[in-house]
Amino acid sequence: MSDASCLVTWLIDWMAGGGSLLLLTDYDGTLTPIVDRPDEAWLAEATRNDLQALARSPRIHLAFVSGRDLADLRERIGVREAIYAGCHGLEIEGPGLRFRHPGAEAQQETLNAISRELSLRASTVPGMRVEPKRFGLAVHYRHVKRDQMQRVEMELARAIQQTGGRLKVFHGSAVIEIQPQVGWNKGDCVLWIRDVIQRASSAPLMVLYLGDDWTDEHAFETLAGQGITIKVGSDAPASRAGYRLPDVAGVRKLLSALADRAGRGGDA
Ligand SMILES: [Mg+2]
Repeated sequence: MSDASCLVTWLIDWMAGGGSLLLLTDYDGTLTPIVDRPDEAWLAEATRNDLQALARSPRIHLAFVSGRDLADLRERIGVREAIYAGCHGLEIEGPGLRFRHPGAEAQQETLNAISRELSLRASTVPGMRVEPKRFGLAVHYRHVKRDQMQRVEMELARAIQQTGGRLKVFHGSAVIEIQPQVGWNKGDCVLWIRDVIQRASSAPLMVLYLGDDWTDEHAFETLAGQGITIKVGSDAPASRAGYRLPDVAGVRKLLSALADRAGRGGDA
């Protein structure tokens, strides 16, 4: 029996004993493979069905935590009963709950101004694409020629300088993300969701978090000793997560096994 099926059995036993499960997962690289164009990262229909079944289980709370804009994330997943957290947790929505980080809201105008300015300038740099988000923006440069990269950085620096504001700038895979400078990450977001659920129910709650990149490490670290954490992928040598799954296929198998036993009128 594999680690994953041991984990499923353990979770089923936990729920059979009266416990609830908060299952949180990242999207890109966790539920869908990383693709050249993030626009094309669509969820497999079978996985959507599994997630739907899990969300409908009375003992399972399902949440998605992503760097994507909340509206985009919700559209890609399309599970109505679930909780969605966009912009790395700065915005959270779910049945009966809603959160927007006040520090991020305070900087929303600044970020919008940078988005507008950069969107106008993007046409002068072939391949540069600006993606505005509610609380931030992403500058995609996968299709920018190497000798034009400096132009991207210059345009970005100029737009930020013009508008001022305390911002967080970080590099992802062929993307530069700009976010408000606030002390809030995926780990804080996970605790916020967990606390809301715990306040609403007396059942003991187990937290399970799945993610693939460094922004998920915040959640792994926060949940150390307080939940089950699973790092997806075998490339990065170090992770704070307690377990590993090799790839997205492994995640899909885990969710499918759990949905079979818990979500579709099974044991829990
Ligand atoms: Mg990811």
